[in-house]
Amino acid sequence: MSENPFSNAMRQLKKAAEVADIDPAVLEKIQRPQRILEATLTVTMDDGSTKNFPAFRVQYNDARGPFKGGIRFYNKVNIHEVKALAFWMVMKTGVVGIPMGGGKGGVVVDVKTMSAGEIERLSRAWVRAFYKYLGPRVDVPAPDVYTTPQIMGWMVDEYARVSGGWEPATFTGKPLSIGGSEGRTEATGFGGAMIFEQLLAKLKLKKGKTTVAVQGFGNVGYYVAERLHDLGYKIVAVSDSKGGIFDKRNIGMDPRNIMKMKKDKGMIDGCYCKGSVCDCENYTKISNEQLLQLPVDVLIPAALENVITKKNVGKVKAKAIIEMANGPLTPDADEKLFKKGIPVVPDILSNAGGVTVSYFEWAQNTSGLYWTKDQVLLKLHEIMKKSFDDVWSIATEKKVDLRTGAYVVALRRIAEAMKARGMTNS
Ligand code: NAD
Repeated sequence: MSENPFSNAMRQLKKAAEVADIDPAVLEKIQRPQRILEATLTVTMDDGSTKNFPAFRVQYNDARGPFKGGIRFYNKVNIHEVKALAFWMVMKTGVVGIPMGGGKGGVVVDVKTMSAGEIERLSRAWVRAFYKYLGPRVDVPAPDVYTTPQIMGWMVDEYARVSGGWEPATFTGKPLSIGGSEGRTEATGFGGAMIFEQLLAKLKLKKGKTTVAVQGFGNVGYYVAERLHDLGYKIVAVSDSKGGIFDKRNIGMDPRNIMKMKKDKGMIDGCYCKGSVCDCENYTKISNEQLLQLPVDVLIPAALENVITKKNVGKVKAKAIIEMANGPLTPDADEKLFKKGIPVVPDILSNAGGVTVSYFEWAQNTSGLYWTKDQVLLKLHEIMKKSFDDVWSIATEKKVDLRTGAYVVALRRIAEAMKARGMTNS
């Protein structure tokens, strides 16, 4: 990663703080996390050897509620990235107005090389390292890149063992059988599709004609693509870490077929198959970089950060971008796109469906009352629509890009809470 994501996040913050006109004491304080926890996790591997893994938890700001944010298991994780992700969580819970703060965790590890037993031992070790600083009213972690509901299941179990009580609201994104919420798995992707429809209404793009390219085909990328396909938009390209597929005729592909291919072949290749019938002529393999440069209506980066930078932004031909990954555009790329009149819906708004349903899960766990999937998605839609409207209004009123508009909405709420609690006093 060539750019420091935390420096980028601070650039975004300072730009928005000028527009939001917030108290300098709040601005000063919010440029630093409240607490950074670091540990070394020692894990016994299947062959009897032991390995050590650096692990982090950044508790950035809890002015509006408990720290909230995922845990990432990834070999390129570093503290700058985790700090940036934690800061973005604060902004995210602020922009959608849910009563939570922001945090993030990470472990420097390549889980793809590990067995399920090794991943379980690593997950349990993470909890033992940090449990004193976690809890439903303190810090509520969730899944992120390469962490799963199963991992949350092990973590909530380990938390029960070390803390002496069953507290399902300590982790969200759990399996349904132990207090997970209906709709959580799809929430981030579906929330992104809700934002997509709000944006399209503003841009006056037509449903049956709108083409979409999605980079990343994990939880977020898959569900946003699936939902958009079902709503009648044309998914013409998708990719994962090994590359992707492009539909040369712009007809649109069903992501379920691509997922089947990924499962069968272990990768997305250039042939599109429906059942046993494959078409390799009208479809082609593309690289991740090529996908970003396709002349589609909407480009959705849904994998990792810093994929659109000053180096490649000039080659982007999409009419709009919806950030579903955290931090996929650098500030330089942002500025160039704003000057060109290409709207970018920022991550803190468009991927906030995940944390919103995580909050629903926490609320269900703490109240003991459970909701149906329809109820969850209806409540999610209300929040995503209102949040988009809030951001669009501020951006239009202040003549700024949508990211700055989103930061302004969030910062005003956070600043108010910090003032109300006296958090800027000694
Ligand atoms: P995931 O682990 O399920 O999927 C990640 C995907 O990215 C995989 O398809 C992987 O193959 C692909 N990928 C990895 N390296 C890549 C590369 N160099 N180029 C292209 N693709 C690559 O993770 P996820 O949960 O889908 O998260 C994706 C992004 O969305 C992350 O930035 C994450 O922080 C963000 N996010 C996730 C959630 C959530 O609820 N899962 C919520 C908000 C934001």
